[in-house]
Amino acid sequence: MMKYISTRDNKLNMSAAQAIAKGLAPDGGLMTPERFPHLEADAITRLKDMSYQQRAVYVMKQFLDDFSTQELEGFAAAAYGGGKFSHADVAPVHSVDGDTWCLELWHGPTCAFKDMALQMLPHLLSTSLVKNREDKTVCILVATSGDTGKAALEGFRDVDRTRILVFYPKDGVSAIQELQMNTQEGRNVGVCSVVGNFDDAQTGVKRLFSDRELAGQLAGRGYFLSSANSINWGRVLPQVVYYISAYCDLVKSGAVKEGREINVCVPTGNFGNILAGYYAKKMGLPIKKLICASNSNNVLTDFIRTGVYDRNRTFYNTMSPSMDILISSNLERMLYELSGGNDGEVRGYMEQLNAAGRYEVGGEIRAKLEELFAAGCCDDARTAQVIGKMWKDRGYLIDPHTAVAFDVLEQYRAQTGDKTPALVVSTASPFKFCSSVLPALGVDELREGVGILDQLSQVTGVEAPAPLAGLKEKAVRFDGVIEKEHMVDCVLDMLK
Ligand SMILES: *Cc1c(COP(=O)(O)O)cnc(C)c1O
Repeated sequence: MMKYISTRDNKLNMSAAQAIAKGLAPDGGLMTPERFPHLEADAITRLKDMSYQQRAVYVMKQFLDDFSTQELEGFAAAAYGGGKFSHADVAPVHSVDGDTWCLELWHGPTCAFKDMALQMLPHLLSTSLVKNREDKTVCILVATSGDTGKAALEGFRDVDRTRILVFYPKDGVSAIQELQMNTQEGRNVGVCSVVGNFDDAQTGVKRLFSDRELAGQLAGRGYFLSSANSINWGRVLPQVVYYISAYCDLVKSGAVKEGREINVCVPTGNFGNILAGYYAKKMGLPIKKLICASNSNNVLTDFIRTGVYDRNRTFYNTMSPSMDILISSNLERMLYELSGGNDGEVRGYMEQLNAAGRYEVGGEIRAKLEELFAAGCCDDARTAQVIGKMWKDRGYLIDPHTAVAFDVLEQYRAQTGDKTPALVVSTASPFKFCSSVLPALGVDELREGVGILDQLSQVTGVEAPAPLAGLKEKAVRFDGVIEKEHMVDCVLDMLK
């Protein structure tokens, strides 16, 4: 059976079902497969004619040997089939020019790439509970600054043995994001806004997780608390699938000859998406460079270039808010890889990060980082230029996160002369970020509320995705506003 081990202690191990149910290792490390399966020689040839759902089963089965193929087929159908994704290919590849393609990961129910994993995780989690003989119902608590909360609500809605409660900062999300959450349907969902900013909501949720009295009370009612954040293996694994799927599509369309290398460029925050790309490469997918794209919060650019990770720097609120992050949690799994599975070394770096906000990796890790990765960053002014230029030159409408990646790819190509065909990962629909996209197209007077969706449609002739366009007709189900001291009452109230 495949074992999962902690990045901070090799001796700590568990099954996939246990790793997914726990989320985090008891020592604070991240649960990671002890070995990586290699793609079979004919894998691409076989997968190329399969649906996205079948590709997902094939890839995930190799890591989840305590789940049956039949179980995984059921999950893939529920997560990616049944009209949940507006595109038949689920994660289609769009041709941008002769040697650049864009992998669109935002055709899911909430129009951001978080859907790719959060549509799958709830099924993995609820089945893991059965396998682990857990008799309680899990209640997922989420503090969100926007995208994750809605994607988690939509993923967990009406999934057996799960409840979900999302807290968002009253003044910290866009009008559209707020409406997306407050109109959420489902029998097992709850949403509440918290007076304050994202930090207040997040600190409040952390306090709930460490509240022993609350845990005791909930256990008496048949519940336990868990989180759905991006360090859970059940969120990383579904992301490996779309890299392999995209390569299959490139081969199938004749764009790339089978076996030929490609570069991938990923707009990065918590390092979960690009880490999945690295794992695909480790499994044998012909990826040459992983190009890590950041906005002005460029802590990863500096790390990849110098080997020094230093979070002691100014924090910027940018127009690509899902990448406004100074601690990239999933980087810990990458350090584990680069150090050759040296748990003590990883533990040391994480202790330094915790104590001083800084660490510097050794020469060997630096050399490997340089070989595998390239990195660059792009500020808001350039991001807007790229959105405008992409629309004007190619009639292709992109969101700010995706624009950051296009810019960094261009910088990389100019600096290195590397002509390898490249895949840019697109992480959100431009309609999720109308108030940044419209000004980038030269429109200065913006409409209020959901009217801004129609405005972007009228300016571009591009239709808004149905889940966003449909918000106008949805009834508001949640309008609670609470002080952060009262979050515990909200949990007790929901789990009566
Ligand atoms: C979450 C998110 C990212 C960052 O992904 P990571 O896996 O955290 O690196 C980028 N773009 C969008 C739109 C996101 O929602």
